[in-house]
Amino acid sequence: MEKIKMTTPLVEMDGDEMTRILWQMIKDELILPFVDLKSEYYDLGLPEREKTKDKVTWDAANANKKYGVAVKCATITPNAQRVEEYNLTEMWKSPNGTIRAVLDGTVFRAPILLDCIKPAVRSWTKPITIARHAYGDVYKAAELKAPEGVKAELVYTDKEGKETRETIYDFECPGILQGQYNKESSIKAFAHSCFKYAIDTKQDLWFSTKDTISKKYDHTFKDIFAEIYENDYKAKFEELGLEYFYTLIDDAVARVIRSRGGYIWALKNYDGDVMSDMVSTAFGSLAMMTSVLVSPDGNYEYEAAHGTVTRHYYKYLKGEETSTNPMATIYAWTGALRKRGELDELSDLVNFANKLEEACIDTLNSGVMTKDLVNLAEGIETKPVNSKDFILAIRENLEKKLA
Ligand code: NAP
Ligand code: MG
Repeated sequence: MEKIKMTTPLVEMDGDEMTRILWQMIKDELILPFVDLKSEYYDLGLPEREKTKDKVTWDAANANKKYGVAVKCATITPNAQRVEEYNLTEMWKSPNGTIRAVLDGTVFRAPILLDCIKPAVRSWTKPITIARHAYGDVYKAAELKAPEGVKAELVYTDKEGKETRETIYDFECPGILQGQYNKESSIKAFAHSCFKYAIDTKQDLWFSTKDTISKKYDHTFKDIFAEIYENDYKAKFEELGLEYFYTLIDDAVARVIRSRGGYIWALKNYDGDVMSDMVSTAFGSLAMMTSVLVSPDGNYEYEAAHGTVTRHYYKYLKGEETSTNPMATIYAWTGALRKRGELDELSDLVNFANKLEEACIDTLNSGVMTKDLVNLAEGIETKPVNSKDFILAIRENLEKKLA
């Protein structure tokens, strides 16, 4: 069989630990035999980040901006223990944070659905995609513990030194306070990414905040979304029969639980953090989630939502068999290859990505699965396998589909 040709390189960001092992298996068994892979390779594994003083991460992020589409393996975000383990000269920043800072994007996460894994919410028959604003708010807040008797104020000072202030509270007893911010530019970028992704995937867009209580802060989010929708996306939404729907977050939570799924739910940073864990757990597992960072100027970075699965890696190093689920990492590859195919008008590449996903789903529906899913599957006879055998079973199904 002739291999499928590519025209523009895909930015390939390798990673750490167990997912790095899976990465190589996926390439060797599921990509390279079928695709004449054109990729610009960046090793974001921690040893290479240390060696290059993290330059490799910045280079990779800039390549993502240049070529438009990247696929990323999970990477270690160093903490004190990792500094020791890897003998680091610095506690390098999270690669995801660096890439987000360069691309200024929104993270979209959607579950991969299987007939044999029932969501905890019975009415959900279609995926719910969470769009999380990944900048500011409580993640960039200033905090103080207030002693008894102090008066807390919110103050900003303009360039001429003129102050604008608002009393927060006169503390008659000890307390706590917090100041958070966001930027209009970031909220606008978030809104554009959401509307574009809704059009791209032909799904309705829901957005929720607490604007009744937060009349300036959250209300600004609501207003920016409404204005951008009216000016830039309303016509296209109407043409495609899509809906943009704003509601209060508490109302949204109730509606989401009653819904059938099949839409994108955009959320502020903290809300998105909390709700994405709830939605993904209710659908089954982090290993069965797709995740893509979309920038407002149309760059895409596909990744797995889970980490480097350290516990399995240490077993692997001891020569023990592991049954780590490669689905999220395979879907990072199919997402990136499909997007590359769409942008370069390579229908064979798009078709390949679709067939590989179908082969994955067929394999799982036949009961062949990694151990994490065996516990979740209902109504079928399951056959637990290790990562390698799972990938080989997918390859067999893929070869049949492509024949
Ligand atoms: P993790 O790698 O997601 O793993 C936590 C646990 O979840 C695993 O021990 C395993 O449970 C289960 N799990 C996760 N993915 C799985 C898969 N594909 N197949 C089967 N089971 C899976 O989280 P972590 O252990 O907290 O973090 C490890 C490292 O990953 C950290 O250094 C962190 O910085 C990094 N991280 C990276 C990213 C990213 O790059 N996107 C995201 C999060 C964390 P059992 O052990 O019970 O089998
Ligand atoms: Mg979280």
